[in-house]
Amino acid sequence: MKRPSSSGKENMSAGTYIIAERIRGRIMDETFELITFARELIPGTLPVVIILGGTAGEALALAEKSGCDVIAVMGESLADYNAHAYHKAILAILSPLQPAWICLLHTSTGYDLAPGLAVGLKAACITAVEAVHGGTFTRSVFSGKFTADIIPASASTVLTIQPGAYSRSTESNGPAGRVTLVDFSLATPRMKALGIREPVYRDSALKDAEVIISAGRGIGRKENLSLLKGLASLFPGSALGASRPVCDLGWMEYKHQIGTTGQTVSPKLYLACGISGAIQHISGMKTSQTIVAINLDPQAAIFRIAHFCIVEDVVTFIPVLIEETHRAPRRDHGAVSP
Ligand SMILES: Cc1cc2nc3c(=O)[nH]c(=O)nc-3n(C[C@H](O)[C@H](O)[C@H](O)COP(=O)(O)OP(=O)(O)OC[C@H]3O[C@@H](n4cnc5c(N)ncnc54)[C@H](O)[C@@H]3O)c2cc1C
Repeated sequence: MKRPSSSGKENMSAGTYIIAERIRGRIMDETFELITFARELIPGTLPVVIILGGTAGEALALAEKSGCDVIAVMGESLADYNAHAYHKAILAILSPLQPAWICLLHTSTGYDLAPGLAVGLKAACITAVEAVHGGTFTRSVFSGKFTADIIPASASTVLTIQPGAYSRSTESNGPAGRVTLVDFSLATPRMKALGIREPVYRDSALKDAEVIISAGRGIGRKENLSLLKGLASLFPGSALGASRPVCDLGWMEYKHQIGTTGQTVSPKLYLACGISGAIQHISGMKTSQTIVAINLDPQAAIFRIAHFCIVEDVVTFIPVLIEETHRAPRRDHGAVSP
């Protein structure tokens, strides 16, 4: 590996490095959540961002926007995500530096890479981090029902951060970061990425809906979806959403799934019915203007972000709600687009 051009920074070794998430030729906005996290981890410092497979232009733009120093690693084998090539390229840069913190997003790329990087760097590995307080990392366990606090016991730690757990850092008012360009080639990659396909099921109805009525496992059975459809029919321009278990159970199609591995939505009204509020779900709907949650459990995590909390059984509450709404003075009724 050679370093053909550098803007002059000889020693890039800061405490924290983040690996930018880049998909289909674009740096994902969630990378800015990693910057926010890193700034909270070590207050008063900026992380160094590593971009794999990008261009010098992308690196410059990121360095300007974020104020972070950027290392752009370029090479044919990095054009699309390739676990072997990414692993080798990151280790080539970070092994000599032995940084204290290496942060990735907790996405399919992040959790594919993180354990191997930790082994290569003889580092600890803490995944799915949702918060950090004074060097203690918090993550959900048992599907969000409990949280675990973890502290690393090694000099270096690889972290994956839940998308949505941190806000996206805003543009820096300070000077642009410095950019280092690095050439990387891998003679015999053990795998070849053939490209990325869009899911065929992405549903624009959810994106456009002003009101989303979302079903969680708490609705109990598929037949109870008719209650949610009845409720949705009260709102013009509404659509049905779902938590992942509802899709896994086959009650609704995956195109309705909201969350980290589903869609991100921001309607005027989000009604969560029997949804516990795991971070993976919340990350996909927390920017909704008004959130109403119906849940039997007063301790449910969804109530921490809901504007209106209804501690009731969805199966008995929704029919009453529909009936009362029908009795109320006339309002426009619209069609639901499930
Ligand atoms: C890598 C990864 C990615 C993930 N991506 C997503 C994602 O994109 N989207 C997503 O949603 N999840 C995702 N998950 C799963 C997530 O962690 C949670 O398991 C899931 O969101 C929980 O769904 P739920 O709230 O419907 O079910 P549960 O957690 O089982 O909660 C059901 C809730 O219903 C309540 N309830 C039960 N009966 C009633 C009743 N009669 N009336 C009212 N309330 C009732 C219960 O009190 C409980 O709070 C992901 C997980 C992983 C590991």
